[in-house]
Amino acid sequence: MPIKNRIASFENEMISWRHHFHENPELAYNEFNTSKKVVELLKEFGITEIEEGIGKTGVVATLENGTGKTIGLRADMDALPIFEENKNKKYKSKCDGKMHACGHDGHTTMLLGAAKYLSETKNFKGKVVLIFQPAEEGFAGAKAMIDDGLLERYPINEIYGMHNMPGLEAGVLAIESGPRLAAADNFVIEIIGKGAHGAMPSNSIDPIVCGASIIQNLQHIVSRNSDPKETLVITVASFNSGHANNVIPKSASLSGTIRYYNDKIGVLAKKRFFEVVNSTCDAFGAKVDINFQKGYPATINHKKQSEFAYDSAKKIVGNKASSSQAPMMGSEDFSYFLKKVPGCFAWIGNGPSASLHNPKYDFNDSVLSIGSSFLASIAEDRLS
Ligand SMILES: [Zn+2]
Ligand SMILES: [Zn+2]
Repeated sequence: MPIKNRIASFENEMISWRHHFHENPELAYNEFNTSKKVVELLKEFGITEIEEGIGKTGVVATLENGTGKTIGLRADMDALPIFEENKNKKYKSKCDGKMHACGHDGHTTMLLGAAKYLSETKNFKGKVVLIFQPAEEGFAGAKAMIDDGLLERYPINEIYGMHNMPGLEAGVLAIESGPRLAAADNFVIEIIGKGAHGAMPSNSIDPIVCGASIIQNLQHIVSRNSDPKETLVITVASFNSGHANNVIPKSASLSGTIRYYNDKIGVLAKKRFFEVVNSTCDAFGAKVDINFQKGYPATINHKKQSEFAYDSAKKIVGNKASSSQAPMMGSEDFSYFLKKVPGCFAWIGNGPSASLHNPKYDFNDSVLSIGSSFLASIAEDRLS
């Protein structure tokens, strides 16, 4: 039976797993019941090689058949701190303030579907390592698993992952090599000036005027320091200061994010960021405290693995395999795997749903068997 038909034959089971995960969302590094359920199902499929607690709440299962290469397939399991607004959904989140608003319930389910199929058909030669990862949403669960020895204990030759995308036609598999998602560094700038009466500005070191200058000057890094052919975003997203119309406050705080694809541009942006903020504060006579946090690296797909994934996608969805999806400036911790192992991160269309991280978002159950078949197909094709 073709992969897609076999997997579609247990689609209802997959939908029930997905709804179970959706009703019981857990936040980063707290996916205790989620990983327990994952392990339960893997055991039910007859999979015996299972390791729990990698990167705190991660689960890794291995399927082996003869000798050959090792292919890693990864899904993320964590939810977001959002109050779900899908009031009429039967499987609405049971945990107020927690919600699967990024579709990781669907991602976990699709990998489970592939696991069930691959464990019963074993139509491959080599090893498939199934990686159920915690804490994708800002807490670098991928890195936690790698730091915990994942790649030493499970030396994989290639890795593949997938994320749903609202707005992209349901079931389209969008695959392309090169930059897919950006690196994301974050900063907080605390400007310490000198407060004074609003009518006596010469007695102050005004942190608001200083902050306004910083915001202007930072934009010149993008327009005048960075190669115009490279992608760079510098956004100041918050500016907090003062509370009265006639008081110049003592301090101001700015925060924001820096996004790019090319590591060299990231190094340049960081260097110029510190120079611009420090020298602007100097010019105003203000003191400054900068907290700069390096975030996820850029998600850069490897060329060959993207071609392999595209070929597998073609087999599953025919001309719904696409290579024309533009890269985006969001970020994703699958990038940590791609820094270590050649691989590819694919998009699967979620149809016209609410956007990711929206309280009305929901994963599209109609794409479960497609995504699952795609993952299974990659394993079979790469281990044929
Ligand atoms: Zn997300
Ligand atoms: Zn996500």
